[in-house]
Amino acid sequence: MLTYLITGGAGFIGSHLTERLLRDGHRVIVIDDLSSGAEKNLDAARASSKLEFIRAGVEDCDAMNYGARQSDTIFHLAATVGVFNIIQSPVETILNNVDGTKAVLAAATPRKVKTIVASTSEVYGKSLSAPFREDDDLLLGPTSRSRWSYAASKVVDEFLALAWQHEKGVPTVVTRFFNTIGPRQVGRYGMVVPRFLAQALAGEDLTVYGSGQQSRCFTYVDDVVEWLVRLANDDRASGQVFNLGNPSEISIEELAKLVIEVSGSLSKIRHVSYQEAYEPGFEDIARRVPDIGKVTALTGYQPRVALREALERTRDWVAETMTAGATA
Ligand code: UDP
Repeated sequence: MLTYLITGGAGFIGSHLTERLLRDGHRVIVIDDLSSGAEKNLDAARASSKLEFIRAGVEDCDAMNYGARQSDTIFHLAATVGVFNIIQSPVETILNNVDGTKAVLAAATPRKVKTIVASTSEVYGKSLSAPFREDDDLLLGPTSRSRWSYAASKVVDEFLALAWQHEKGVPTVVTRFFNTIGPRQVGRYGMVVPRFLAQALAGEDLTVYGSGQQSRCFTYVDDVVEWLVRLANDDRASGQVFNLGNPSEISIEELAKLVIEVSGSLSKIRHVSYQEAYEPGFEDIARRVPDIGKVTALTGYQPRVALREALERTRDWVAETMTAGATA
């Protein structure tokens, strides 16, 4: 039995990872300030006596040092995410992400606890060289567009993690998530899949921003969790960056049609300008496709859950949430 510390463990990806590690017989300490996560995400995990939940931010040194002292591995998933959050609160986004990662790495240092730092495919920015490889150049937009502050904060997180291994000897792994989806992801920060599902199930128009020709690669959360577990348990992963994504690509317009189909909905598609959806001058990313050669070579794992199935599983959760009267 190992002990894992998961920051952001009450969030969307974190709560799935928590359940998985508990199922494997490990002990899990979750540190989460519930700013975007929710205690109810840990309802299933709470059945295990091996879960310890601490409501605290990662900048709370006592909580972090307590957790890191006991841990064999840390997953640092706590972050400010979601395009709405980033546009509305860029200062909070930048500081939470950079200061948070610094605090986690500092806590990991005395015992040199292996730390997996969550990053994002957003760091590739407007690069046109899809599929993206981990050693590609990154192409961010200007600092006058607040959207890019998220990518920039995560680029700093990545540099910090890699430098921390180099200079302080803490093994670190950086994982770039490509549009992870699944139950417990909420739409209020902008994420398209829970928004479309809630709209379709309510019989409302699906709000496709821009032309709808922009594309993404949606990755089911269980596939991401499998990769995280394998990377955590493989010493060869240390000091490296990995794309975690399902390379199967779909335009947002096609996604909207598929969501309507799997929801059995009569909803229509409504196009909304980026200016109306976000802010004047908003720059979207046209294509974002991962090259996953590196992570599949190291872990031997390929994504298994196709988009339709991922949408069906997520649909059932969104439907339950709506019935329970909660807001997604
Ligand atoms: N999007 C959309 N309607 C929505 C929410 C998002 O058309 O209600 C679009 C968004 O403009 C982007 C894509 O869906 O092109 C994915 O958006 P999301 O915020 O989920 O992720 P990211 O932009 O970070 O890839």
